Amino acid sequence: MEFIDEKLSAYAEEHTTPESKVLQDLNRETNAKVLNPRMLSGHLQGRFLSMLCHMIKPKQVLEIGTYTGYSALCLSEGLADGGTIHTIDINDELTEMINRYVDGAGLTRKVKLYVGNAIDIIPKINEIFDLVFIDADKVNYSNYYDLVFDKVRRGGFILADNVLWSGKVLEDRKKMDEDTMAIADFNNKVMADVRVENVLVPIRDGVMLIRKK
Ligand code: SAH
Ligand code: CA
Repeated sequence: MEFIDEKLSAYAEEHTTPESKVLQDLNRETNAKVLNPRMLSGHLQGRFLSMLCHMIKPKQVLEIGTYTGYSALCLSEGLADGGTIHTIDINDELTEMINRYVDGAGLTRKVKLYVGNAIDIIPKINEIFDLVFIDADKVNYSNYYDLVFDKVRRGGFILADNVLWSGKVLEDRKKMDEDTMAIADFNNKVMADVRVENVLVPIRDGVMLIRKK
């Protein structure tokens, strides 16, 4: 589902810095070879993530849900000197492709990939994060939020993707499937959390920007 008029959407892309060659290749290869290529952030959202990162200049970033590495490469563009992106994915079939693109982009030293269940891995990463990007299984969004909260510095940011879930968050609660309900509950949880300020940005499938006060 497109939230804005197709022509406006195309106009927005045409007036956004193009993807680099590496990101274009990764986008193409994901679409050609990998299941569910719709999960890849894509041109507009990728540039949005890169821009946010340039504004925040984070030293330590945590990404939950690497997929083929597109968003990790975008986030890495704005890292502070000596910064690291810790990125977690449960699907070991993606590892070869992620590593190939991370190496190809010259980011081997900046991107640290963890393969396994984020629920188990997050508690084992001993870092304080400037930025966390939640983009894995939707049923665990609230669990990820709780697990990372104390690991985010004061003034740091948590971003969560797909918070509009193709518009299904508007459905009657009784008709919601498990994923939709989990996202709706997550959005309400953030909204009720007095420890943060948040903005739901209706870009692509919706990105929640959260700042820890
Ligand atoms: N951030 C990527 C897209 C992520 S798609 C981008 O924007 O391009 C969601 C990913 O979450 C999938 O690759 C899936 O394997 C992963 N995932 C699902 N459940 C997970 C879990 N419990 N732990 C870690 N990763 C998980
Ligand atoms: Ca996503």
